[in-house]
Amino acid sequence: MREFDFIILGSGIAGLSFALKAAEKGTVALVTKRGKSDSNTAWAQGGVACVVSDEDSFDLHVKDTLIAGAGLCHEDAVQAVVSEGPERIAELIGMGMHFDRRETLNGEYELDLGKEGGHSKRRVLHFQDSTGMEIERTLLEKVAQHPEIEVMEHHMAVDVITTGKLGYAMQNACVGVYVLDEATGEVETLRSDVVVLATGGCGKVYLYTTNPDVATGDGVAMAWRAGATIANMEFIQFHPTCLFHPEVKSFLISEVIRGEGGRLIDARGRRFMEHHHPQKELAPRDIVARAIDAEMKRSGSKCVYLDITHKPADFVRARFPTIYETCLKHGIDITTQPIPVVPAAHYQCGGVKTDLNGETSLRGLYAIGEVGCTGLHGANRLASNSLLEGLVVARRAFDKATRNRPERVVFELPEWRAGGVSDADELVVISHNWEEIRRLMWDYVGIVRSDKRLQRAATRLRNLHAEVQEFYWNFKVTTDLLELRNLVTVASLVVDCALSRKESRGLHFTLDYPEKDDAKFLRDTTMRRT
Ligand SMILES: Cc1cc2nc3c(=O)[nH]c(=O)nc-3n(C[C@H](O)[C@H](O)[C@H](O)COP(=O)(O)OP(=O)(O)OC[C@H]3O[C@@H](n4cnc5c(N)ncnc54)[C@H](O)[C@@H]3O)c2cc1C
Repeated sequence: MREFDFIILGSGIAGLSFALKAAEKGTVALVTKRGKSDSNTAWAQGGVACVVSDEDSFDLHVKDTLIAGAGLCHEDAVQAVVSEGPERIAELIGMGMHFDRRETLNGEYELDLGKEGGHSKRRVLHFQDSTGMEIERTLLEKVAQHPEIEVMEHHMAVDVITTGKLGYAMQNACVGVYVLDEATGEVETLRSDVVVLATGGCGKVYLYTTNPDVATGDGVAMAWRAGATIANMEFIQFHPTCLFHPEVKSFLISEVIRGEGGRLIDARGRRFMEHHHPQKELAPRDIVARAIDAEMKRSGSKCVYLDITHKPADFVRARFPTIYETCLKHGIDITTQPIPVVPAAHYQCGGVKTDLNGETSLRGLYAIGEVGCTGLHGANRLASNSLLEGLVVARRAFDKATRNRPERVVFELPEWRAGGVSDADELVVISHNWEEIRRLMWDYVGIVRSDKRLQRAATRLRNLHAEVQEFYWNFKVTTDLLELRNLVTVASLVVDCALSRKESRGLHFTLDYPEKDDAKFLRDTTMRRT
């Protein structure tokens, strides 16, 4: 057993931000299941929403966030994230982060602010169209300079360890983590009084997603198994525009293209957003995603198109270099051809329920970034608010975790008991179940839902759950098996939350209850394992 002052699971914006502060106070294990920059953060294109312009105000950013959240945002969380944002951004710039700047009329330089759907002002700070990669570069460079941080790459957290599971009588608390070392296949025991889930979202639970392979909802599944409260998992944001191409798994076509005038057209070149919302292409994401879904169903086509060809080619190449290059590699010159796009699962608005400081209902366990649910996003996330939340809540969680720390209790944690044997023949079952979950979630729990579809999904998931559990107990654990186990849990939570919300609100749209029902459902959906 190894002991640390802080254990952080995940090396995206939230985990890295927490680690850098924590290292000032003690020893840090930064556990991350693939390479250190493998994260949703690295894939973020659009940027970070933050009030930095004189033409903008906290009130306007708060207002835009509340409108997107469709009545379920926690206003205190919105206020905190919006108002503490500029300070966190200034720190990031102080660490060496580059945001694009532009020359003003009087020859000075100022931050170049992008505009995205739902924002009433230009307020999205960005670095070209690869903001997330630049954030990871900046934070990882700082982490590498810190002797107190031990980065454990290719180590996957299996489960958090709680006093309850160990049979202690005291209040249930998180006291460590079991971690699988991919290289050796051994499970190590790590001990700490502060365990931080910064494991990101669960896009991989759906067949089509903008998320990288790491996004399998591990943090939510671990927290659920440990008895922490989970909230609002029905609110999955589908990004309206993912590149539709047979050779590309998940490549997002940033909202900023629409912000800069990109038009959505059908296969015959006709614009259609004006039939769906007065803000047309800049309507909130859920509305654009549903409009595309409806358009594809109506016309029977496999995709729609995003057209930016009316803008000067030089501008398009300079403003969207990553998108331009990626599309070109696949035979699409976006300066002359419209881009084929489809909606895809993008962001988990719910997660492990926390307060404004990332504290979960389980003592010693924090959840920050996309894995947590502070109430900032409510029923729908305003674009580019998530990176900001990662920065702000990481800092608040650090402050909380280091304020009034309880006296450390010495626990000897039991070693992991390795389950049975490995059987290569069964690997095919794991990959089959992976596919089945992702397909059924796409077909039955997607952009437009109904009770019948959700119940069908629930029945299938119950069977899959039993099968996966049998594997888990009988076979040696591997990352694939552990991710499958987490996927089935998270998929079930999405379905159960969706089934219990008998109304349509924000990202949750069901044919059986197409209207909002404030009298019954103006509240979070919460679930806890009993
Ligand atoms: C394509 C794309 C574009 C986006 N664009 C924007 C944008 O422009 N603006 C914006 O605000 N948001 C954007 N988002 C959302 C935003 O990127 C994420 O919400 C945010 O980066 C999440 O940060 P995080 O630190 O919470 O998690 P992540 O960055 O996802 O990091 C999670 C980390 O946890 C690790 N991990 C997971 N499970 C385990 C485990 N069991 N054990 C150990 N490690 C584990 C992962 O390997 C990873 O290192 C975008 C997302 C995508 C996918």
